[in-house]
Amino acid sequence: MKSPKREALLNRLTWLMMGRPLLAIPLLTLILFSFHSIESTPDARLFYFLVVLRGCLTLFHFIVFRGTKNLDAFTALQLILDLFLESVLIGVTGNVESPFSILYIGTIVSSTFFFYEKGGVITATAALLLLGIVVFLKESHPSAEVASFSFTHPIFFETYYRLFLHAIAFYSVGLVSGFFFSKSHKQFKMMEEEMHQKRWLAIIGEMAAGMAHEIRNPLASLSGSIQLLKNEPSLQEENRRLMEIALHETDRLNAIITEFLLYANPNPPKRRWITLDHLLNESVELIRKSKEAAEPTQVILKMSDPSSELFVDPDQMKQVFWNLAINAFAAMPQGGTLTLTTKQIPCANGSGQKAIAFYFQDTGMGISKENLSKIFYPFFTTKSSGSGLGLSIVQRIIEQNNGAIGVESAPTGTIFKIVIPIHPMGVDISGNPVWKKS
Ligand code: ADP
Repeated sequence: MKSPKREALLNRLTWLMMGRPLLAIPLLTLILFSFHSIESTPDARLFYFLVVLRGCLTLFHFIVFRGTKNLDAFTALQLILDLFLESVLIGVTGNVESPFSILYIGTIVSSTFFFYEKGGVITATAALLLLGIVVFLKESHPSAEVASFSFTHPIFFETYYRLFLHAIAFYSVGLVSGFFFSKSHKQFKMMEEEMHQKRWLAIIGEMAAGMAHEIRNPLASLSGSIQLLKNEPSLQEENRRLMEIALHETDRLNAIITEFLLYANPNPPKRRWITLDHLLNESVELIRKSKEAAEPTQVILKMSDPSSELFVDPDQMKQVFWNLAINAFAAMPQGGTLTLTTKQIPCANGSGQKAIAFYFQDTGMGISKENLSKIFYPFFTTKSSGSGLGLSIVQRIIEQNNGAIGVESAPTGTIFKIVIPIHPMGVDISGNPVWKKS
């Protein structure tokens, strides 16, 4: 079986091998037109022989590379051959001043494509060494201008100064390109992992939703039977109490399953335009009537621009407000104040588009720093009878309605901030439009 890592490496190798002839053809044309002198040098035949040999080897490698076991070694061999050919080309077309020394840069970049910063540094070092050898061989050649090795000759300084500049260029390109590719690789890996996790969660979600459906039916029969038994006139008081506990627990189980199905199998949103006051007045009325709030609790609504219209699923949004309010009441066991404020905020990108920010602020016990990053995880709860699904459902609904949610907390209370775009596009927590699938 092919691993994704091998597949990715094979794809990159295909790019490298296809890119080589694409680069070689214009290059050879350039050589033939610009360096007629090659024809007259004794190195010319060697040069053409090596070009043809490299072409044949590339073709051969292209045919066999999919069957190669050690792709890293195979890639390294390709890079070494490239460096070698480039060195010969530089030797034939001049010396350290040959314009073809730029080809080393291409090989250094190619190596970082596979081996990142490490590959960049190793290839830069190899290129520098090979260039040094070419220079040395040329300088010590009998036909060379500086036949003997002299440290005082001006050409010595000129040559080694150029070598020094090449070294700076090689290492800089190796490091920068290596950093760039390793960063893109890490980002790609993260995206891949995220996709993998999402797929996995979707499968688990489907399986669990199926199981939840199956549990629900026997649970309903169980609850109905207990209800009937509980109403038996001959039942002892102690047994009636036990039956009430059983009934309470089946109800609780049913509520957890309902919440879970809402999370795992959400209905697609039925979005329509609705004014803010329509959406909020009804929800707040319902929240104020809730029996979950301890006395004395106050629910305050502060709306700016109540006639603003939003493109959302109103029922889903009411579910969001309800879940947030129930959590706020649970965080204020001695009572307190829940303030719901809305504000119209401009999108920070200057597009003129607007969004509505909802702030749910309570005066409860707050959320510890340690728990703050976990509260949106499904099944995370600090309550003895909590399902840990309330906020996961909230987050899912907000995302389905193209919005964003954030939270801030202190020991004196918590603020949940929700941002919903007025336009049908998506929005991030600062109100900036982003493309999201609806
Ligand atoms: P549940 O309410 O069933 O525990 P949620 O997903 O709604 O599940 O909430 C997860 C956890 O987040 C809660 O158990 C609680 O610890 C914390 N939490 C949520 N809202 C608040 C709030 N307003 N104040 C303090 N803690 C909160």
